[in-house]
Amino acid sequence: MKPFATQLAKNAPVQGLVDDAIDFAQASGVVQRTMRNGEVLKTSTHAPFTLFPSLFPASAYHLTRSIQNDIHLLYHKVSLDMEFLGEVLKSTIAADDFVSNLFDIAKLARASNTTQKMEIGAYRSDYMIQQSYLKNNASNAKISTLPKQIEINTMSAASWGLSTHRMTSLHKYNLRNAGISCDKLNMPENGALDGIARVMVEGWKKYGNPKAVFVFMVFQDEMNIYDQRAIEYAMYEYDPAVKVRRKVFDDCISTTRTDQDGKLFIDGEEVAVVYFRTGYSPRHFPTPLHWEARKTIEMSLAIKSPSAAHQLVGCKKLQEVLARPGVLEIFLEDKETIEKLRSTFAEMHSLDMNNAGDTAVKLAMERPRDFVLKPQREGGGNNLYDSEMVDRLTEIGGDERRCAYILMEKIRPPVQELNYFIHNYTCSAVANIVSEFSIYGVFLTDGSNITESRAVGHLLRSKSVTQNEGGISAGIAALDSPFLN
Ligand code: ADP
Ligand code: MG
Repeated sequence: MKPFATQLAKNAPVQGLVDDAIDFAQASGVVQRTMRNGEVLKTSTHAPFTLFPSLFPASAYHLTRSIQNDIHLLYHKVSLDMEFLGEVLKSTIAADDFVSNLFDIAKLARASNTTQKMEIGAYRSDYMIQQSYLKNNASNAKISTLPKQIEINTMSAASWGLSTHRMTSLHKYNLRNAGISCDKLNMPENGALDGIARVMVEGWKKYGNPKAVFVFMVFQDEMNIYDQRAIEYAMYEYDPAVKVRRKVFDDCISTTRTDQDGKLFIDGEEVAVVYFRTGYSPRHFPTPLHWEARKTIEMSLAIKSPSAAHQLVGCKKLQEVLARPGVLEIFLEDKETIEKLRSTFAEMHSLDMNNAGDTAVKLAMERPRDFVLKPQREGGGNNLYDSEMVDRLTEIGGDERRCAYILMEKIRPPVQELNYFIHNYTCSAVANIVSEFSIYGVFLTDGSNITESRAVGHLLRSKSVTQNEGGISAGIAALDSPFLN
């Protein structure tokens, strides 16, 4: 099957389709706050999106969806094993204050009998498709397309509300508008927004005091506010009794406290749940007081999403360790599950201070185009590629700072010839597009066990193959949706 943009009649007027698509996007809420000269305004602009869906292998969709609950179980088990986690993160903790502070809090909370043990998980697993070819294959025929895990986002995952079912509707409309007939619109339903709203309300109810509030912990001037607001509004649909508060972390650190029973109060109100959409980067903790407030929240009776331990298991270092031979077997029993999970792991190397670490550095220096150097950071723009990677490794030399990174094989997903990207009301034809696919999953834990777990939806983001990273807010990538084939 050919990409949809190439199915348009030659010289077909694209601008009319684009204008209609922008109206649809804005009317249905595919929007973000307008950014002007570095300032986030109160007005809105459509989020960057592709005109048409991208083709995506159905087998990869079904595989990644089928392992999401296993990922929840695996990561939850690791989050309970502080000894294992401490060992895995030992060198990272020594080299990275952010991870070290978070680990101290997680350890205290896991050891305490008085903190809240129930947790809400809202994960997003990110993948790219890797193609493999038969060696010495004259026709260059593809033999397989396998999804490879880019990372597991265990906190502050975005786009549940903005880009999920709304992108599917937008793309169906655009295809119809373009007169592209598809025998079967092979676009899967997307329940990400509904799924997260439901689990958040369920968690809030489990706290047991209908007067206690549900807090979205956010940062000031959030461009992606409508994605968060969509979750909030969907929560009211589930239960009009839920009381949601949006709190800017910086503003409430001095009013965050616990009472003698361990109940959490922020600005004088009892808090049932803290859902973090901030707190994943050192820049969100500019003072020791920020860390104190994070600790107060963690040690309280409020339900966290995520807990510090679940935040920690999102470290790329853990991803690298889980990919080592024999490690999945420590936590999972079912052989078929282990095999399926392992098939999604890319080649990864530790940069610890040992022979294996030395070999990995050598590999990266010799073949920089084939690897990505990743620190333990979230939110995009932190990884190093090509000459930047070489420069950083050269600058670090034999220093222990290298333990803060992992090295990952660079995935080269299949390239699609053409699509139209609509960014800030302007359409450009973009050739050679690659996509990153994600599965959204939610769960509840009672501390020891996962009590509910669901894969609820998906996300597709696309960018030009010439870009290493693909931020939506940065305007490099665009929201897309998968057309399974
Ligand atoms: P972050 O936590 O900052 O989102 P990611 O690991 O998701 O870090 O990397 C950011 C982006 O970099 C990804 O969305 C993807 O576009 C690109 N990327 C990351 N790892 C790889 C890889 N192994 N191969 C190709 N691209 C990658
Ligand atoms: Mg990412």
